[in-house]
Amino acid sequence: MSNRGRVAVGCVLGLLAMARLRAADDSGRDRLVAALLGPTPLADDLEALSDRVGGRPTGSDANRRAVDWAMARLADAGVAARRERFAVGDQWLERSARAEVRGDGLVFAPRVAAMPFSISTPAGGTSAPLVDAGRGASADFTRLGATARGAFLLVEQDLLADVDGLFREYNETAAIEQRARAAGAAGVAYVSSRASGLLYRHNVAVGAANRAPMVVVEREAAMRAMRLLRHGTSLTLTVWIDADQSTSASAENVVAEIPGTSHPDEIVLMGAHLDSWDLGGGTLDNGANAALLIDVARQIVRLGLKPARTIRLVLWNGEELGMRGSFGYVQAHAAELDRHVVAGAVDIGCGRVTGFFTNGRPDLVPIVDRLLAPQAGLGPFAQVDAPVVGTDNFDFLLEGVPNLIANQAPALYGPSYHAANDQLEQCDTGTLRLNAAVIGGLVWGFAQDGTRLPRHTHADVQALMDRTDLADQMKTFGLWDGWAAGTRGRKP
Ligand SMILES: [Zn+2]
Repeated sequence: MSNRGRVAVGCVLGLLAMARLRAADDSGRDRLVAALLGPTPLADDLEALSDRVGGRPTGSDANRRAVDWAMARLADAGVAARRERFAVGDQWLERSARAEVRGDGLVFAPRVAAMPFSISTPAGGTSAPLVDAGRGASADFTRLGATARGAFLLVEQDLLADVDGLFREYNETAAIEQRARAAGAAGVAYVSSRASGLLYRHNVAVGAANRAPMVVVEREAAMRAMRLLRHGTSLTLTVWIDADQSTSASAENVVAEIPGTSHPDEIVLMGAHLDSWDLGGGTLDNGANAALLIDVARQIVRLGLKPARTIRLVLWNGEELGMRGSFGYVQAHAAELDRHVVAGAVDIGCGRVTGFFTNGRPDLVPIVDRLLAPQAGLGPFAQVDAPVVGTDNFDFLLEGVPNLIANQAPALYGPSYHAANDQLEQCDTGTLRLNAAVIGGLVWGFAQDGTRLPRHTHADVQALMDRTDLADQMKTFGLWDGWAAGTRGRKP
């Protein structure tokens, strides 16, 4: 007898009801998992999204084409789907960015990427002395003293190897930008953390509150400038940035829905963001998982499966600007949040799903363990109960809704993160197919399972902040102020 059976023994009626539900759901789940492992249009969809639509930052024509494409693919599959418009607020799109380094008879023009929420420069560019700011540590600013004021700070960074390095980079840059602002610097020029001229976009930590030009400079040219500075050559950096910084933009999420039969008011949500940055094709981040959710929806409908609870598979928009689409969703669906059983996010590329982050809900761990057990052959799986900030579970976490993020093997996610090489060839679509089966099986499990955890109160969420590094992560990503001001997250 399984543990599940023993738990139910106290109530014969409950046991019979559960047995009926389980008999039905087991075959549904098995058929869904088998279908997702078989030949489906998943890889073709990912190719279309990566190559035909391409990079699709929020506010771009490609982003609108991506929404149209997703709606069309869901319609082709017979899946009911709708567009839900939300306020993006502060949008940021690079139109052009270039730079020039001059000094002592030298002139060269390194390729640069403006950092999202960098300001535009005047048409004639912004020129300032370029200074060696080392790694941007406190000691570097002490050494620079008054010379940091009015200067462009050239900041060296380690070569990025993996996802851990990425989080370190985000943490460090948030602190560096604070010091740069306090020192009155004209702007920051980061040595690219990727080799061979590869550029990428990292949001300026303070987001739209930023008032300085910020760029990532191709590594080899930036290191040339750094060596020149260290050997005593005075250099001037001129940066030209033209960015669309609309303040009242809107965009659309795509919400696919398979209505529940016995508990249609209870919602099981799984989401993946459809927007991406523009330097690459947005395959790993996050076209792969958007295509994955379309395939899950497609197979549920194709097999004629009828979940007990309503399944919502959401393709978020505006994620890269600070999870604006999922923030818009929790506002628009505030009255339903008590009835959201779980809200999950898949957003770490194409590496194998190794389990789920349960984001400070230890009570969620045994449920996920149990619902993944039938897919154990696709594992092993281990859940990590630590809050993670940086994708579309965030506003559900702040709203107290049980939430998950798929944890994935790093694969090539870190080195191609937000970069020009985030392209189709980086994704192993065989692994993506296995992940579709894992996610599909879990979503189906939640839709059939009788368990429902209570929603956390404001005080519960605050207590989570007090005992973990959640608040620090929020500050790193410029997401603290909304919670502190009471404009984001569950009200007390
Ligand atoms: Zn992403």
